[in-house]
Amino acid sequence: MDGALHLLTGLEAGGPTRVRVGADGTTYGDLRGAAAAVAPTLTGLTRVAVHAEPTLSTVVAVVGALRAGVAVVPVPPDSGVRERAHLLTDSGAQAWLGPAPDDDGGLPVVPVDLAARADTEPAVVDPSATALLLYTSGTTGLPKGVVLSRAAVVAGLDALADAWAWTADDVLAHGLPLFHVHGLVLGVLGVLRRGSGLHHVGRPRPEAYATAARDGATLFFGVPTVWSRIAESPDDARALRSARLLVSGSAALPVPVFERVAELTGHHVVERYGMSETLITVATRADAQPRAGWVGVPVAGVETRLRTEDGDDVPHDGDSVGRLEVRGATLFDGYLGNPDATARSWTDDGWFRTGDVAVVDEHGWHRIVGRESTDLIKSGGYRIGAGEVETVLLGHDAVRECAVVGEADDDLGQRIVAYVVPAGPVDDQESTAAELTAHVGEQLSAHKRPRAVRFVDSLPRNAMGKVQKTLLPGG
Ligand code: ATP
Ligand code: MG
Repeated sequence: MDGALHLLTGLEAGGPTRVRVGADGTTYGDLRGAAAAVAPTLTGLTRVAVHAEPTLSTVVAVVGALRAGVAVVPVPPDSGVRERAHLLTDSGAQAWLGPAPDDDGGLPVVPVDLAARADTEPAVVDPSATALLLYTSGTTGLPKGVVLSRAAVVAGLDALADAWAWTADDVLAHGLPLFHVHGLVLGVLGVLRRGSGLHHVGRPRPEAYATAARDGATLFFGVPTVWSRIAESPDDARALRSARLLVSGSAALPVPVFERVAELTGHHVVERYGMSETLITVATRADAQPRAGWVGVPVAGVETRLRTEDGDDVPHDGDSVGRLEVRGATLFDGYLGNPDATARSWTDDGWFRTGDVAVVDEHGWHRIVGRESTDLIKSGGYRIGAGEVETVLLGHDAVRECAVVGEADDDLGQRIVAYVVPAGPVDDQESTAAELTAHVGEQLSAHKRPRAVRFVDSLPRNAMGKVQKTLLPGG
């Protein structure tokens, strides 16, 4: 595997295909020329920060640095002053490549000239060299710096293309942030490696996805909150009938959303599961029949296993819950500057502990139950996955969104608490709560019923639309 020449093979092959970010577009030839012109400005640098706004300049900066063999640290444009200071110090970035935010942390700025053209060859770089320093979404705590090699990125992108039969004929539309694995690695580098078209729609509004569909986009990426908005916007959703593949990832896609989108678009959204540390792990293949609530099978070159806390195997019976562990070519090298966290994340026999809990069935299909730290509730001697209770609650008409957590309880160890964003005005909270509790008791075992239901206006979510359970009030 040649990291340098093959990281963005589609881009090197060229072609008339366009890359569009918001209102600005460019051809592959011009993008390659502008990226090649970046290389001489990076002499002496090994790691650069990119202020990752969804702009063409971000794409040119990332591609320019990668072609020059320089590692990229994407910095969220909406990060606060302290957050950004931490990220810049922690990552060891030496300069900004492209426009810097007002508060630039004292780093020099290397400009990116979108009009410049050069025809230099990509640098020859060892596949083990760092391509990206990605910070996790910070769903469970402070974002962690994840070191990703060029070889891991190549393995992930090729595995994904294999799963989804992704080719140069596809045009990907998405409106995801360009500082996470989903939007940047899978959603931009994935395109450039295949030689496909990209239409970054800016904010991921249903109208923007519909417009992209009318313009001929074939492949659509979204996080569950995006699909949920599309499900509530029938006319826009119907425009997606012309799509080849609709994809959801980064968090669990609620079953009612999966069903409603299928009704309106004629497509079952395929789910994928991965993380900054593993890029892509499990996906529903394009030629498989998608199943509501299931994310698919391990992608090429990746293996998974399910384990108990004591390291015993958990049966693949479609029902038993275990800790999900991964090994394969898409894995990261470690957490930057944190050898202890890195060591804790690997088992003695070389598997990465994802921190997620899952169920696997006899055909190798995976269902992600949630995170061990916030979604595995131990109550009265039972182990309950928050996701299972959330799915049932979402099936009730009174519930628009919900998050289920375990709260410390003297008697039970933890008690199940449901935070509910109601679908409409709630006249009598007590009786609605009782109704919801009874609904869970009917659908699942009695011990899975919430002991308390708290009505809230909204759930705390981060940039990827993930519910930050650690920020929920009370508890
Ligand atoms: P942090 O590690 O800082 O708490 P994070 O885990 O949200 O943040 P990411 O690496 O961006 O940061 O996200 C990976 C996580 O997202 C996975 O570990 C998993 O919990 C969740 N996830 C991703 N895809 C899915 C999916 N299809 N279904 C359910 N959960 C998913
Ligand atoms: Mg994580």
